[in-house]
Amino acid sequence: MTTDTLATTPPVPSAQAFVPFVSVDAMMRLVHRIGLTPALTQLADRIEADFRRWEAFDKTPRVAAHSENGVIELMPTSDGRHYAFKYVNGHPSNTRAGLQTVTAFGVLARVETGYPLLFAEMTLLTALRTAASSAMAARHLAPKGARVMAMIGNGAQAEFQALAMQAVVGIDTVRLFDTDPAATEKCMRNLDGRGLRIVACASAEEAVQGAQIITTCTADKRLATVLHDNMVGAGVHINAIGGDCPGKTELAPAILERAATFVEYPPQTRIEGEIQQMPEDYPVTELWQVITGQAEGRVSDDQITLFDGVGFAIEDFSALTWLHAQVTAESGAAQMLDLIADPDDPRDLFGMLMRAKA
Ligand code: NAD
Repeated sequence: MTTDTLATTPPVPSAQAFVPFVSVDAMMRLVHRIGLTPALTQLADRIEADFRRWEAFDKTPRVAAHSENGVIELMPTSDGRHYAFKYVNGHPSNTRAGLQTVTAFGVLARVETGYPLLFAEMTLLTALRTAASSAMAARHLAPKGARVMAMIGNGAQAEFQALAMQAVVGIDTVRLFDTDPAATEKCMRNLDGRGLRIVACASAEEAVQGAQIITTCTADKRLATVLHDNMVGAGVHINAIGGDCPGKTELAPAILERAATFVEYPPQTRIEGEIQQMPEDYPVTELWQVITGQAEGRVSDDQITLFDGVGFAIEDFSALTWLHAQVTAESGAAQMLDLIADPDDPRDLFGMLMRAKA
């Protein structure tokens, strides 16, 4: 019930009208209660489970509104039972103004009625799900026994990436590099005491020394070359997640010529990923097919594997359904928002408004 009674009468909560809202504060409390490592592991497993039923989902490249400084995107998908979308931005110059590069929020809804089930902050949830997706991909593609990861770009996503790779793949060392030494110092401080050996490096060339996994997670709105061809040796797994927009890449094209490349949803990745630099018929393998055994993943110790991760709506769907399960299991984890108008007579929306004046 919303305001179909006198304005002075407090609204009576109804399952339809009041939508659980997970604020930033509530998300932080939830992650601490669950524990960061279990949360990352659970998310990786849930994303993998949804990739296994890839064909059940509606899929479309995300809808992007580009501007000089960045992009605002809407990412929808549905499995026929639930529908989810995320609003997310990417503005690499924001940090200069004290703002984040990436912020997000999202909604999970019931397909049967179209009513929302959950409304949530997704800035933190995106960092968690991106790290979980990277680690899930590496679980299938990285060389066996990978213990050392180079982390190029030490901004907002970096610690999540390192900790997910530790939890899911078992890395024990992270070699950090960022063009801004303050970002690397921040990352070292945040990762201290978490069971990882942390090495600060003076260049990307130094960071990749001895690494079996190379994660590139930089923010720059141009075709940058963060990783040159001569920096990538045989057998390495590259987790390239910073290039996620037209005109925004991180790898030298020569690396793509040598690598076996794995993607989320090709129609979106061909627009946004590292492969935007390659001809339209550049061969890629869809990660879901590796997970379901329909396509080969890594085929030899010498092979260079590349996860060209741009972030796909199904990963956000997985994250929101995971969050919904947490919120449902724990009363008080979300705040109830008076989001949906709920007239006594569903066709008397006008009457509800007029009676509220009284
Ligand atoms: P951020 O701005 O917090 O951090 C980016 C870091 O990259 C900064 O510290 C910056 O100094 C560093 N950097 C820039 N150019 C560099 C270079 N050439 N070499 C080394 N370091 C360099 O951004 P963030 O939130 O950590 O996001 C990083 C990137 O990941 C963004 O481009 C963002 O759009 C992308 N992203 C992708 C996904 C996905 O699903 N694939 C999800 C979230 C974010």
